[in-house]
Amino acid sequence: MLGTTKIYGCLADPIDHVKAPTLFTSLFKNKNIDAVMIPIHLNKDNLENVLNSLKLIENFKGMTITIPHKTNVSKLCNYLEPDAKFTSAVNWIKFDNERNLIGNNFDGQGFVNGFLGQKYSLENKSVCLFGAGGAAVSIGCSLVNEQIKSLKLINRDLKKAFDLKNKINAKSKSLQVEVYPDNDYTLAGSDIIINATSLGLKTSDKLPFDVTKSSKNSVIADIIMQPEETELLKHAKSLGRCIHYGKYMIESQIDLVGNFFKIW
Ligand code: NDP
Repeated sequence: MLGTTKIYGCLADPIDHVKAPTLFTSLFKNKNIDAVMIPIHLNKDNLENVLNSLKLIENFKGMTITIPHKTNVSKLCNYLEPDAKFTSAVNWIKFDNERNLIGNNFDGQGFVNGFLGQKYSLENKSVCLFGAGGAAVSIGCSLVNEQIKSLKLINRDLKKAFDLKNKINAKSKSLQVEVYPDNDYTLAGSDIIINATSLGLKTSDKLPFDVTKSSKNSVIADIIMQPEETELLKHAKSLGRCIHYGKYMIESQIDLVGNFFKIW
């Protein structure tokens, strides 16, 4: 580290599990960029004070925001990029030259880019999205731009799924969006089925849906990164379905982040 080194942060609570500081610090090194990323463990009650202080540190460029800060940090930004505005959540922030705080959310675009990057297609496909939490809202927001044929939203808390439908329809009136509770739906006819719930993080979790009910030629996608191959994907693979790993959603965000900070 030098006097010229730029600092990026990774904000989380809890923090022990985060991988971004290792990933980005080694990326910076590989790309010959004079920067490091440090973990920042912060309780939500101190958010505003800390952001105001970071604003004063001129070599502090920005940070990635994870659970539970994504929504609260979005409220403290001076400007939100469109995806952050749609989701009312940020997963990256930066200070511009005037030290204004700019928020963005790459989760949804990360999913889409990662999916397309694996040579799958979204155009004219019937998509079924499980979940209506932060990640699902981001994915729903980005799917709207992909000329999909239809979107089925399935969630335990039905109100959250309807809220997401309303947001999507505010963005695109023509996209057909249907909402179902997680105990009463059909998977037949869906080309792409995405698990955007947190089910699968623990091996003891129930499966988010019954893969045997999906069409044989459907693609089963998970956004859980750890474990890399969730029980859902293992089961889908054993049934001969095409599968898509959660890691691609985060990996494809690297390009988007480089663009946001104009560093690669
Ligand atoms: P949220 O807490 O905002 O949402 C959780 C979602 O999971 C909700 O839809 C919730 O349903 C559902 N859920 C949780 N428990 C159950 C259950 N027992 N039965 C049925 N549904 C359940 O989390 P996020 O949306 O932020 O994140 C979801 C997951 O996505 C996380 O595990 C995270 O690791 C992963 N993720 C992966 C990323 C990647 O780059 N690959 C990026 C961001 C997140 P309900 O609304 O009814 O409570």
